[in-house]
Amino acid sequence: MRALPGVSAAPGITVGRALVLDLTRGHASNLVREADRAGEADRARDALRRTASDLETLALQLRSEGRGDDADIVETGVLMAMDPALIARVETLILESGLEAADALREAAEQTALELSVLLDPMLALRADDVRSIGRRAAAHLKGDARHVSEGVLIADSLGPADVAELAPSVRGIALAGGGVTAHAAIVARSLGLPMVVGVGADLLEIEDGEEVLVDGDRGVVVRQPDAERASLARTDTERRRSAREIAIARRLEPARTKDGHGVRVLANASTVAELEEVGLMRTELLFLEAMQWPSHDEQVSVLRPVLARLQNQTATVRLFDFGGDKTPPFLRGITARGIAVMLNEPQALKAHLSAVVDAGRGADLRLLVPMVTSAADIRSVRDMLAIVVEGRDTPKVGAMIETPEAAEAAREIAGQCDFLSIGTNDLTQLVLGLDREQSRKAPVLDPRVLGLVAATVQAGHAARIPVDVCGEAASDENSLPIIVGLGTDELSVAAARVGQVRQWVRELDFADCRRRSEALLGQSGHTSRQRV
Ligand code: PEP
Ligand code: MG
Repeated sequence: MRALPGVSAAPGITVGRALVLDLTRGHASNLVREADRAGEADRARDALRRTASDLETLALQLRSEGRGDDADIVETGVLMAMDPALIARVETLILESGLEAADALREAAEQTALELSVLLDPMLALRADDVRSIGRRAAAHLKGDARHVSEGVLIADSLGPADVAELAPSVRGIALAGGGVTAHAAIVARSLGLPMVVGVGADLLEIEDGEEVLVDGDRGVVVRQPDAERASLARTDTERRRSAREIAIARRLEPARTKDGHGVRVLANASTVAELEEVGLMRTELLFLEAMQWPSHDEQVSVLRPVLARLQNQTATVRLFDFGGDKTPPFLRGITARGIAVMLNEPQALKAHLSAVVDAGRGADLRLLVPMVTSAADIRSVRDMLAIVVEGRDTPKVGAMIETPEAAEAAREIAGQCDFLSIGTNDLTQLVLGLDREQSRKAPVLDPRVLGLVAATVQAGHAARIPVDVCGEAASDENSLPIIVGLGTDELSVAAARVGQVRQWVRELDFADCRRRSEALLGQSGHTSRQRV
């Protein structure tokens, strides 16, 4: 047994065989030409057939080993792979939206899984993971990549957010030699409920493929060849998380109201999947990370529409492209600007983007969220362009991300231009404290310097009588949640997989106590939180 210290990036403990990844693959999000779509749909159907056949073979093998119950479970997967509703969904995504077969298989499985996961019957909800597994197995067939099929603990130097989204369904936990806790890869891991440890260093890469490893995402440590006692603790933890998830799933639709009756709205962060929850943050840029040029209006609509069409009459908060930093597509390589500054430098691209979002979001209660705002002038510029673009269509609400120190300082003026504010604690924390987001080993959002700016933003929003949301990771962190609620935040936007859990946590809080705790912390920053207006 040998412990390799790192930093916790996503909670939970897991044990399994190491899958050591030499990662050079990216996430393909090219659209298929219309002429090629029928052929692409054939490939997807064939992949599903081959997946069903694999599972049949596996079931036969299990039966011959006297494992009838396991064989029954595997056979359910055969039915899922051949499910006409799943196949129809895959076909629509390819034929109408132009997705590649592998993307369509994963996306269709994810859509089906999300429908299952909100069902009140926990047994049915748990089938969601089985459907995801079908999607990933079928996608793996297309790539001829057996690694996707195997289960284990992913060991890599570093991963991008698209890589985690693509690979994570196959793995039980992730350990990285590099990486940071607020990097987007970690965000995706948390949203998928995968234990993750980052920053372990080069020693991690000495782990051999197939070796047994334990990832302790609570303590931030990776253990090579764990002893029986430690491995069994990990298995118990996996079971505990599974049953906590069942409770959260069963109660996820109940409103989030503290014990003393204070209501907080909990929405979902979405990226590639069609969420069933109201969406508090859709990170549109994650869908175009491999783009070779600014995506056209039509390309954007074909990718965004399948997600937004499901949010009729529901809140859909679509963030404008937040390119830059670790989210820089090839055609923007070398830029130093980030977020709305990138788009304001390219008025034609901004115009196409706004128009595409308005088109794709028709029928939803659309809220546009502007990333990396630094001044009220940014919002005025976006509104000016929006006025040109709308042309008789409904004008969406416009909100500012408050995630730079400049924006937090100018929150009152910015709030005056907005219909809502959304605090991005991930960037705000790193920028205020001068940390490197991609490498940072901590995200101390409760540092009084950060908290003072969060409090000032909430006050600015309430003075302007607009709601204030927190959409950074702090909103779904058990330790910072009470403080954020205590500051009077109206909405929390959290990873889709954590909506039920966060609602449950809110129900266990006492608002008066949260207020006292946040006041006490704020006292150290020189800020005071005043009564809400
Ligand atoms: C944030 O910065 O807190 C945020 C929500 O945006 P992102 O994580 O996508 O940068
Ligand atoms: Mg941000």
